[in-house]
Amino acid sequence: MEKELYPMCAKCGERICHPFNKIGTEPPPVEEAPSFCPMRIRPEILERAMVEYGRNDIRELARLASLQEAECYEWVPTGVGDRLGIRTRIPRVEETIQFAQKMGCHKLGIAFCIGLQNEARSLDRILENRGFQVVSVCCKTGRVDKEEIGLKREEMIGGPKGYLYYESMCSPIAQAEILNSEEVDLAILLGLCVGHDTLFFRYCKVPTTVLVVKDRVFGHNPVAAIYLSSTPYYGRLMSKPAGKRSGA
Ligand code: SF4
Repeated sequence: MEKELYPMCAKCGERICHPFNKIGTEPPPVEEAPSFCPMRIRPEILERAMVEYGRNDIRELARLASLQEAECYEWVPTGVGDRLGIRTRIPRVEETIQFAQKMGCHKLGIAFCIGLQNEARSLDRILENRGFQVVSVCCKTGRVDKEEIGLKREEMIGGPKGYLYYESMCSPIAQAEILNSEEVDLAILLGLCVGHDTLFFRYCKVPTTVLVVKDRVFGHNPVAAIYLSSTPYYGRLMSKPAGKRSGA
């Protein structure tokens, strides 16, 4: 029986989708891509995506996003030989501000985790100082006890010792609906938990970007664990549970 093929770009060593061939020369043929390449096995979806980019609003959003991407770098005279070098220029918070300005946004929304309330206060000031109106919503808004969504006291953060304490659930649905109703031009996520962000995305109807993702161990920098997965410090991430086969 033939093995089912599905996109596995993460396993690709060819990367002919990003060929860097000189202007005027032909990129490598698609047949040189791995058998699991979306360009070979899902061409109809790639064509449908290009139809979407043909819509004026989407095309403009895509154009501004790529323009902003390029503006995060600068050319410097320190490359190899006679070539210019390239270096990074601005952090993500400035990237977000510049993108919002390019999009013509006036009203921004911050959906933040209560654990990042100080950062939310700073971001609010930063954005207001740049001339935006800022709507912000904390994850705990509504102050509904977690028992309402079926958690037992001992399953809450407070654990067995937290029996006496009321524990408000995070309500990303409320955060999304409030930002929807305020008709913000761009919603900015600040530190929502895994799963809470999933719910936020499901209910949010306004354009959204993520400024900070929560990582309680690595200072909200989850890629640090991935970088360390080939070292003894976090090598456990690469271990396979006994009896489990690789997905590929
Ligand atoms: S699109 Fe094709 S060539 Fe590009 S990374 Fe995926 S498999 Fe590789």
